[in-house]
Amino acid sequence: MTANAPVTQDVHTIPRKLPEGGKINMVGLTRDRLRELLIEHGAPEKQAKMRVGQIWQWIYQWGVRDFHEMTNLSKVYRAELDEKFSIEIPEVVNRQISQDGTRKYLVRIAGGHEVEVVYIPEESRGTLCVSSQVGCTLTCSFCHTGTQKLVRNLTAGEIVGQIMMARDDLNEWPEHGKPTSDARLLSNIVLMGMGEPLYNFENVRDAMKIAMDGEGISLSRRRITLSTSGVVPEIARTAEEIGCLLAVSFHATTDAVRDILVPINKRWNIATLLDALREYPKLSNSERITFEYVMLDGVNDSKEDAHRLVKLIKGIPAKVNLIPFNEWPGAPYKRSSNNRIHAFSDIIYEAGYASPIRKPRGEDIFAACGQLKSATERERKSRKQIAAEAGLDS
Ligand code: SAH
Ligand code: SF4
Repeated sequence: MTANAPVTQDVHTIPRKLPEGGKINMVGLTRDRLRELLIEHGAPEKQAKMRVGQIWQWIYQWGVRDFHEMTNLSKVYRAELDEKFSIEIPEVVNRQISQDGTRKYLVRIAGGHEVEVVYIPEESRGTLCVSSQVGCTLTCSFCHTGTQKLVRNLTAGEIVGQIMMARDDLNEWPEHGKPTSDARLLSNIVLMGMGEPLYNFENVRDAMKIAMDGEGISLSRRRITLSTSGVVPEIARTAEEIGCLLAVSFHATTDAVRDILVPINKRWNIATLLDALREYPKLSNSERITFEYVMLDGVNDSKEDAHRLVKLIKGIPAKVNLIPFNEWPGAPYKRSSNNRIHAFSDIIYEAGYASPIRKPRGEDIFAACGQLKSATERERKSRKQIAAEAGLDS
């Protein structure tokens, strides 16, 4: 990331409309867009809103993928819809289940690209870690995804489609006519998979709006956490247009170290980022920000770092999530010792902030934070290149 890099990356999502004669995939369309399209394809304006509501419920509340099953629409209309539209989600090409129950899915999206999605079961809840891009334009030096070039942004349909795919696998669509159960296997979403969600803002927003819609998947905005490396201009927009919880990949307490670990810091430094974060809880009416902090041996894990971190976040309602570094082949860092991590956590805790240490999940299937990288995108940087960019080449 250079200082002059554009805010919005020049990458395009694939067009939703397939060439001549192709069907339009309804998954991922906003309610407004779906309404417009139904009208364009012959629905009387007066009825369009009601039809959107009916179709919406079939797709997002009951998990139906076949127009012929939408029994509150006339048979003729169902056939018409089937001619012009489709209901498609990404295809699962591989599923691995870890000893700890974590599930990692490799899903294929249009163009033959693949992304990873991880389901983490916990006691009386479960979290789905969703990807927003194939690869990433950013090059955080400790992140495996960062070694994979950005291939493209996911469409809103491909993002919400990951949630639908997981509900299929968990067999969690309520029976038609029955309410969604309160005890859900998939109860939380984290946008912490591959990619930088704020470089794919509109698609992420539209997908999350669908996930939150009360007539469908119906997840509360407080059960969705978006993690950003610090795309400052999009933070206020996230509060206003999505309203979900925010996590930030903080990882360092000085600009010199953060420039190396999270190079987007060269564009928006710690002070600028903190200013944006201070406003977030007010704008989004949410409780607190999660500061993610990866524990790298000898790099950012000293007691001084912990004290500096406390000073920096002063006044921001926050919790600090300590992530023991997950190693990957060629990674230029080591995980901090348990003693170090606990000492760091204690300092933060004593200053009045929750400071949980994230338990690595699904390590045996390479599903832990920062390990995701699709095998099909083999464009890998060399070990030397990674070390050079991390400033470790002396
Ligand atoms: N691009 C977004 C979201 C995806 S990364 C972001 O950077 O915030 C999700 C979290 O995993 C981030 O906090 C990221 O910094 C962290 N992470 C990346 N690689 C990691 C690794 N190897 N070990 C532990 N955490 C890692
Ligand atoms: Fe991209 Fe996030 Fe990995 Fe950085 S940590 S390279 S922003 S996915």
